Amino acid sequence: MSSSVVGPRVLLRRLREVMAEPEAAQERLDKIVVLIAANMVAEVCSIYLLRPDDMLELYATEGLNPGAVHETRLKVGEGLVGVIANEMRPLNLTDAQSHPAFAYRPETGEEIYQSFLGVPIMRAGHALGVLVVQNRARRRYSEEEIEALLTTSMVLAEIAASGDLDDASAATRQIRAPVRPRHFEGLALADGIALGHVVLHEPRIEIGNPIADNMPFEKERLTSGLAELRSSIDDMLSRSDVARGGEHREVLEAYRMFAHDRGWAEKMYEAVATGLTAEAAVERVQNDNRARMVRITDAYLQERSHDLDDLANRLLRILTGHTDTAATGELPKDAIIIARSMGPAELLDYDRDRVRGLVLEEGTQNSHVAIVARALRIPMVGQATGVLDTVDPGDPVIADGEAGSVHVRPPLDVEQVYSEKVSFRAKRQAQYAKLRDVPAVTSDGAEVSLLINAGLVVDLPHLDEAGAEGIGLFRTELQFMIASAFPRMTAQMEYYRNVMQIAGARPVVFRSLDIGADKVLPYMAQSKEENPALGWRAIRMALDRPGLLRLQIRALLRAAEGRTLKLMFPMITEVEEFKRARALVAQESEFLERHGHPLPGKVELGAMIEVPALVWQLPALLPLTDFISIGSNDLCQFLFAADRGHPRLAGRYDPLSPVVLKVLHEIVQLASKHNVPVTLCGEMAGRPLEAMALLGLGFRAISMAPAAIGPVKSMILSLPAEELRNELLELIDLPDHSVRPQLAAFAAKHNISV
Ligand code: PEP
Ligand code: MG
Repeated sequence: MSSSVVGPRVLLRRLREVMAEPEAAQERLDKIVVLIAANMVAEVCSIYLLRPDDMLELYATEGLNPGAVHETRLKVGEGLVGVIANEMRPLNLTDAQSHPAFAYRPETGEEIYQSFLGVPIMRAGHALGVLVVQNRARRRYSEEEIEALLTTSMVLAEIAASGDLDDASAATRQIRAPVRPRHFEGLALADGIALGHVVLHEPRIEIGNPIADNMPFEKERLTSGLAELRSSIDDMLSRSDVARGGEHREVLEAYRMFAHDRGWAEKMYEAVATGLTAEAAVERVQNDNRARMVRITDAYLQERSHDLDDLANRLLRILTGHTDTAATGELPKDAIIIARSMGPAELLDYDRDRVRGLVLEEGTQNSHVAIVARALRIPMVGQATGVLDTVDPGDPVIADGEAGSVHVRPPLDVEQVYSEKVSFRAKRQAQYAKLRDVPAVTSDGAEVSLLINAGLVVDLPHLDEAGAEGIGLFRTELQFMIASAFPRMTAQMEYYRNVMQIAGARPVVFRSLDIGADKVLPYMAQSKEENPALGWRAIRMALDRPGLLRLQIRALLRAAEGRTLKLMFPMITEVEEFKRARALVAQESEFLERHGHPLPGKVELGAMIEVPALVWQLPALLPLTDFISIGSNDLCQFLFAADRGHPRLAGRYDPLSPVVLKVLHEIVQLASKHNVPVTLCGEMAGRPLEAMALLGLGFRAISMAPAAIGPVKSMILSLPAEELRNELLELIDLPDHSVRPQLAAFAAKHNISV
C-alpha cells in the first residue's frame, strides 16, 4: 500500500472505469472488491450492505468463501461489521478475533485472517453498509489506509444508494437507510395532528459522481464554494434583524466560526486530494462529523456539531447550485415539512393544500412562523432536536401539535392510535360545527358574544367556519412582521379594506401596531434592551415616533370609508397616552376631510388593559373610551412579574388565581358602571374552564383563537352563569394559588364540558 494519497487516486480512477462499464450492479461489486484488495495489498476485501430488515448482508467478497455471499448476515450492532455500522466509525484491529464483538461465521472461512480494517459506507448521515479489508498477518493499518478506504466507501455509497442493486440478486433486496421508528418530544406550537410524509424544507443534495476528473479544478471549486459560503454568512450577520442579537445571531456566529475554521477546510482539501469531487469531499468530512456527533453527549458540543452539519449542507447546496427550498418543488399530498428553522414568509410559500404539518428543530411559542402556522391551521411541533438527522424524504411521519411529539416511521400500532385520534378530533370538530349557528346563550339565558382573534387574511375564513360574531382583536403587526419592508400606506389601506369587506357586517376591532418586545420587524433597527417586555414598545414607540402610527391611522380611516372603525391601542399605561393617541386620530380625520377623502361612518376608540397601573386609572379613563379590551397575556405577565414566554415559568402562576380573577372582576364592574363595553382577548378566553370563570365574573364578550370557539360555546350552552357567579365571588378573596380545582368541580357537578 502506498503511503501517500496517490494510492486512493489510482484506485478511484480504476473504480471509475468499473462504474462506466455497462454491467449489473452485482458484477460491479464483484470487480470492486478485487480492485480494492489488490490496491490495498489485502488478502480479503468484503462489502456488507444493509437490508431493509436492518440486517447487514455480505454482498461481495474477495478472499472469503464465495459461498457466503448473500448468505452471511449480521444484525446492526452484531459482530465487528455490525459495530461499525452502529457506531458509524472505522475499526482497526491487529487481532480481530480477540475483539469482544467478534462473531464467528464458519461459512466465511475468515478465521485465518488476523488483522481487520472496516469502515462504514455512509450516505446522508446513515450507514448503508460496511467495507472491510483483512490480512493474515497481524498488522495495524495506517492512517492513510483508513483514509483510502473511507474515500473508496464514498463510491460504494453511491452504488448502494442508487437503487441499482435492487434487482442485483433477489428482487426483495433493496438498499435503504435504517428504517427504525424514532420518537421525539418537542413543543406543541400549533394544535392539530398530521399524518403524512417527510419533505425536507432544504432538500438534501444527491451527489452524482464522487470521483474527480480534474483535481485542480475540484480544488478551485471548493475554494470558491467556501468563499461564497463565508460571504453569505457575513451578509446574514449584517442584516439588521440579526445584527441586533438574540438566539439567531448566536447560531450564525457559530456558523461563521466554523466557516472560517482551518481544520474543517483542510480536511476537505485533503479529501479532494485523494481524488474526490468537491461535493464528495464535503460529504466525506461531513460523514466523519456525523459519526462523531452520535457519540457526543455534551449538549453544547452536540449543538455545535449540528451547526457544522448545517454548514456542510449549505456548502453542498452552493457547490451543486441547488439553493431552492422544497416549496418550489413537487410536494406529496400529505407533506410534513421538516426544517431546522424557518421564517414566516417561507411557510407561506408552500402550497397550503399539500402541507399537513410542520416540524422544526428550533421554534418557540411566539416565533413568527408559529403564529403563521396557527393562522394557517397547520399542526406544528418545535424544538424537535435531532429529527433532521434521522429522517429521509418520503418517510412516514406523525406530527402531534397537541402533545408536541413527532413519530418518525411510526410502528403500525402507533399509527393506528393516531388515526383513531384524528377521527375522534374530526368527530368533535363536526359536533362543534353543528353548534356554528346555535346562539351562545348560557343555560340560564345570558347571551355571550364570541369573537375571534386574527391578524392575517388567511384567518378570515374562520369567521364563517367558527360562526363568530366578529373579530375582537386584529393584530395589525402581523402584516408588518411578514413583510420585508414597511408596508406603504396604500398597501395597509388595501389590507384593512379587504379585512373589513370579508367581515361584512361583523365588527372588527383593529389594534394599532404592537411592536417591540418579542415582535420584531426585520427591517426596523431596534436597539437591544435589557427588559424588552417592559421596554420601548407598542404605544410608547408609536407616540415617540408618531409618523408610523399616523400613517396606520390614515390607512385605517380611509379603509373604513362609511363603516364603523373600531381601533384600540396596546400597552396604554396612563390616561395621557390614550388622550395623545386619540388626538392623533382626530388630527388624521381632519387631514383626510380637508383633502376630500370619505371618512368612516363612526370611529370608536378603545384602550387595551394590559398594564396593571391602568386598572387604578379606570375611573378617569373609562369616560374617554368607547370600549376597553383586556390583554390578559400581558396583564398576567405584569401582575405576576413573570415573563410570558419563559418556558420555566410557563405553569408557575395560574390565571385562575384569586388575584387575577379579582382584578378582572374589578375591571368588569367599573366598565359596567361607566356603561363601557368590555372584552377580554388574551389566550385565557379560549380555554373552556378559564372562559367559564370569565363568564362567572360577568364578562359577556370574549375573543379567542378561531379553533377555540367550538369548545367554548359548548361549555356556555350548559353553564348556569348566575349560580357560578355566586360561587365564584366567594372564592376571589381566598389566599390560594389557584381556584382551578373548585371551578373544575363546579363544571363536573353541572355536567359542563370543559
Ligand atoms: C394580550 O396581551 O393578552 C394580547 C391579546 O396581546 P398580545 O398577545 O398580542 O400581546
Ligand atoms: Mg399584549
